[in-house]
Amino acid sequence: MPAPSHLETAIFLVLLAASAYGFWMRFGKVVRKIRASKPDPGFSFQPIGKRVWDFFSEVMLQSKVIEQRPLPGIAHAFVFWGFCAFALVTLNHFAEGIGFPFLSREGWFGRIYFYLAAAFAVCVAISIAGLFIRRFFVRPQWLFRKETGGNVSWESGLIAFLIFNLMITYLATFWWDTKLVWWAHTLTLLIFMPLIPHTKHLHLVLSPLTVFLSRGGFSKIPPLVGDEDFGLDTGKDLTQIVALQAYSCVECGRCTEHCPAYNTGKVLNPKEIALGVRGYLNEFGPGSEEPLLGKYISQEAAFQCTTCGACEFQCPVGVEHLPIIIGLRRGAVNTGKWEDDYGTKLFLNLERNGNALGFSSTERQKFIDKQQFPIFDGTQEYCLWLGCMGGYDPKGREIMVDFASVMAHLGTTYGVLRKEKCTGDPARRLGNDLVFQQLAEQNLETLAQSKVQKIVSICPHCVRTISTDWKEYGEAPPIEHHSEFMARFKDKLPQTAGPKIVYHDPCYLGRYRGVYDEPRQVLARSGEVLDPPRSREKSFCCGAGGGLAFLGEETGERVSHNRAKELVATGAEIVGAACPFCNTMFRDALSAVSEAPPKLLDIAQIAAASLK
Ligand code: SF4
Ligand code: SF4
Repeated sequence: MPAPSHLETAIFLVLLAASAYGFWMRFGKVVRKIRASKPDPGFSFQPIGKRVWDFFSEVMLQSKVIEQRPLPGIAHAFVFWGFCAFALVTLNHFAEGIGFPFLSREGWFGRIYFYLAAAFAVCVAISIAGLFIRRFFVRPQWLFRKETGGNVSWESGLIAFLIFNLMITYLATFWWDTKLVWWAHTLTLLIFMPLIPHTKHLHLVLSPLTVFLSRGGFSKIPPLVGDEDFGLDTGKDLTQIVALQAYSCVECGRCTEHCPAYNTGKVLNPKEIALGVRGYLNEFGPGSEEPLLGKYISQEAAFQCTTCGACEFQCPVGVEHLPIIIGLRRGAVNTGKWEDDYGTKLFLNLERNGNALGFSSTERQKFIDKQQFPIFDGTQEYCLWLGCMGGYDPKGREIMVDFASVMAHLGTTYGVLRKEKCTGDPARRLGNDLVFQQLAEQNLETLAQSKVQKIVSICPHCVRTISTDWKEYGEAPPIEHHSEFMARFKDKLPQTAGPKIVYHDPCYLGRYRGVYDEPRQVLARSGEVLDPPRSREKSFCCGAGGGLAFLGEETGERVSHNRAKELVATGAEIVGAACPFCNTMFRDALSAVSEAPPKLLDIAQIAAASLK
């Protein structure tokens, strides 16, 4: 471009200052709200290697965005990479405005760089046009918000137009390097900049930080600190990470698309949880005593969550929904604001009987005696953890007996505890920290007294709670799920050409523990394993988690029925489950959705049957 006149430079500087002011007016407010929020208790930058890797993979490579929605994901990734490539071009463009460009197309570096940026400009222009068509013409329902009456936001259209215009005006300079094109590019940039913090495009600035500062673990529930910490009750309880995440949400609706509650007609929409916190911060601020459950997030929504984790797993900008949802439940339960007959009964059962089903502990002992399960005395290799379902539920007991027979077949010694109690999983997920703590401490003491070295369990909820949640109160012996145990010995299980078995990934085994192959390996010994359309990381919940198995009737369609229809549609003769909670949910659901439902069996039952 020909060198600018003094007048042009002056006009450019005034406009640049106005644009920067427009940016800071909103961005400064957001930064102040995040900084004024409570510091996160127990936050640590360790393990730093994992943080750096997550940043590189999720931000720089856009791995999550591409993996979860490949086509729009690649388009989005090109826009992001284009922004990175254009950082230097834009700086040079501004420098041109004051007459001091530092990159020239005459030099070898400048020539290569400008051509590289041109290649990105073509990709970005095509990608942004594609994303515009998707948003305004294909209109996937996940992108819309009820607040806008389900309409497409005009801001997205304007931003898409500005990005497209930036690319076109850059490419035009290769043929027509005039002041007119320079000003067209400059004005587009100066309009675009202040729009970033005023729209969902704020994630451009915040989300790299959000991903880097994540809590460092899936569904990592932060500890309560001191007697005055009740969870997320009012604005005073909102932490800096929660505030940062709320402002980072890009409203893509990936969380909503996979949420079992939302997809079965409940009030809960995980996107609105993130945006609800943002709305609260915007209106009341981080120091407010206004309850968090109210204008922006309803208590009903918070207690409809099955804690399946699909939302948190899907989110491309690092929003961690579960600590927020469980934090809100904590706030309601620990301050006595949640009144629910089923919930009260559940907590009483846990406190008085030590199990979620409300039976006397003598019932468990009778079962142990009847099955002649050995009592753990320190000489056996494994402590066989019964859990509430394995100890009290009739179907859970059948699974336990079959798994014990598999262990015996494999020559593994095991014993059960006399005084085992519920792990506290439903109390933990429903936000009752007091009951959870009591159960965790009592169990930890029993395990230590019994000198248990290794635990195996049929229940992914017990595995998660013992291995992760109890850490707040002590170190438990290592625990594994029975699928992991059996998969290690799979070669000792008979190989038969059996029926078609559709496997349902339990949320607490898959997304929470990353165990996908082991149960399939066990099932493959006895038949042909099928996957339903929503499987592995994208598995659809059975509806039982988060304590919901004990909270009575659901509103809308039952989550278990929705999933059962999908399992039935595969045409499999057997539904293979790997969690006693999934098993209990599908027991009725399969017969409700099909006149000739497939047989429902746990992987241990299928393995045990192959031994007979
Ligand atoms: S954890 Fe599952 S049920 Fe809860 S909000 Fe997320 S997707 Fe929905
Ligand atoms: S919370 Fe995450 S997944 Fe959900 S809409 Fe926001 S950015 Fe998308």
